[in-house]
Amino acid sequence: MSRSGAGVPAPDPLLCWKGRLVDAVIKGKIKGGAEAVVRPSRDAAEEAVRTLIAWAGDDPRRPGLIDTPQRVVDAYEEWFAGYRDDPIQYLSRTFDDVGGYDDMVMLRDIEVESHCEHHIAPFLGQACVAYLPTNAVVGISKLARVVEIFAKRLQTQETMTTQIAQTIELALKPRGVAVFIDAKHQCMTTRGVHHPNVSTITTHFMGEFRTDRELRERFLRLAGR
Ligand SMILES: [Zn+2]
Repeated sequence: MSRSGAGVPAPDPLLCWKGRLVDAVIKGKIKGGAEAVVRPSRDAAEEAVRTLIAWAGDDPRRPGLIDTPQRVVDAYEEWFAGYRDDPIQYLSRTFDDVGGYDDMVMLRDIEVESHCEHHIAPFLGQACVAYLPTNAVVGISKLARVVEIFAKRLQTQETMTTQIAQTIELALKPRGVAVFIDAKHQCMTTRGVHHPNVSTITTHFMGEFRTDRELRERFLRLAGR
């Protein structure tokens, strides 16, 4: 694995790679004149982990911890791989040979593995995503991929729910989009208020899902809620 990276500009959570336009549109703002964050070297990232281990009260030099910084940085590459991906790209290939199908297309219980941007603690749950196609549909696995890309960034559940809906809206121009996420936040279950069974539910409805109550209720029923 490459250990270089010094001097390479870090992907900006707001204006990430090719997702730049998408995220700018989604967040409703484009940063002007702000200096890009420079991605630190891998060594600097590992050193930061050693600092946190010592801060926690342990000795980062002891045998059990010696390789931990390397593993943590490896894990970060996986957990935050979403900064290197453009969600719109996954929705660019559509199929119009659907025999006139025009009802909702729904993916239920897509696993969500994300990290809250306030504590970098995991939040885990499921997402249900639906859209009403106009004249083209997208490969269903691609919708799950969009959820995954946004999940693999530092997030709030509310932001992520909106980003998923707005990305599908932007890419497919459907008649409506619905997103439902149900997740448990470890920053709430393992620390702070310690409420292990509390889950957070967020929804975002666009187009006909917003205006048609019956459709919205059908979506929620199919989502199993
Ligand atoms: Zn948190």
